Amino acid sequence: MEPLHTETPLFESRPLSVLTGRSVWLKLDALQPPGSFKIRGIGHACQEYVRRGAGRLISSSGGNAGIAVAYAGRHLSVPVLIVVPETTSGLARALIRREGAEVIVHGDSWQEANELAESRVEESDVLVHPFDDPLVWRGHSTLIDEVAGSGVKPGAVVVSVGGGGLLCGLVEGMKRSGWADVPVIAVETEGADSLAQSVRAGHRVELPAITSLAITLGAKKICQRAFDCTRDHPLQSIVVSDRAAVSACQRFLADHRVVVEPACGASLAAVYDGAPELDDLESVLVVVCGGATTTLEQLAEWASASA
Ligand SMILES: *Cc1c(COP(=O)(O)O)cnc(C)c1O
Repeated sequence: MEPLHTETPLFESRPLSVLTGRSVWLKLDALQPPGSFKIRGIGHACQEYVRRGAGRLISSSGGNAGIAVAYAGRHLSVPVLIVVPETTSGLARALIRREGAEVIVHGDSWQEANELAESRVEESDVLVHPFDDPLVWRGHSTLIDEVAGSGVKPGAVVVSVGGGGLLCGLVEGMKRSGWADVPVIAVETEGADSLAQSVRAGHRVELPAITSLAITLGAKKICQRAFDCTRDHPLQSIVVSDRAAVSACQRFLADHRVVVEPACGASLAAVYDGAPELDDLESVLVVVCGGATTTLEQLAEWASASA
């Protein structure tokens, strides 16, 4: 079966390379049709679930994961139900509905929305997890296949981490491509730094609350496999401010004419602001992961609020 994601552009960013004095490669997954890399893993998982007989797909994500499930369901001709909390923006709800999915708005937080989603699961339904599923990791790993297939092997891979599904998939792809020696630079924002805190504590830490505006990175606890990746693959964890993430989104827009969200700006901030972890590297690959629910106006508002 054809995958639901597309092969995205990979190129060396002239502005970022000149700025930082090294080759900065960009993998532009913000240009996936549903707006983020999520369709790689979620698309793969949904295809597999439908092949195994799923009659309906359910999700409780109001962000890129929900959009990806809705997109996958439309392409696989199965109904989709997405339960989102009140806090989900009108734009995100509209994007999910435009994919033809049913949207139910319920509760003040993701927890409550997820509980309702769970209670709606009937016999042939599958509740799709946004990051803690080996099928999702498998799909995300195709990003590395594409880069390795183009003959590029960077000195490090810079990636944003929420629940850690993307990280798991990239590490899987890196091992398969003979990149076991290529370090991952895992970036989070302050207030969504569940990986950084877990690395420091030596075990998985659950954050009491998410206080970053990079809501897409807002998993209170990373999945176990992501924590294991910090031990069985070279990895450095860094944390940037919301302000740096938003500013990187604006600089990226000026440099490359693509709007991305702060979750993605976090990785870009590590490069724009010259994180010391990059100092000795001749080249890096940055996963430009997405930004479907962010608008120009929203970026400007965040920037003036944090100025
Ligand atoms: C989901 C998402 C992330 C985080 O991915 P995880 O697999 O949860 O770590 C980062 N950036 C964007 C744009 C996302 O949609």
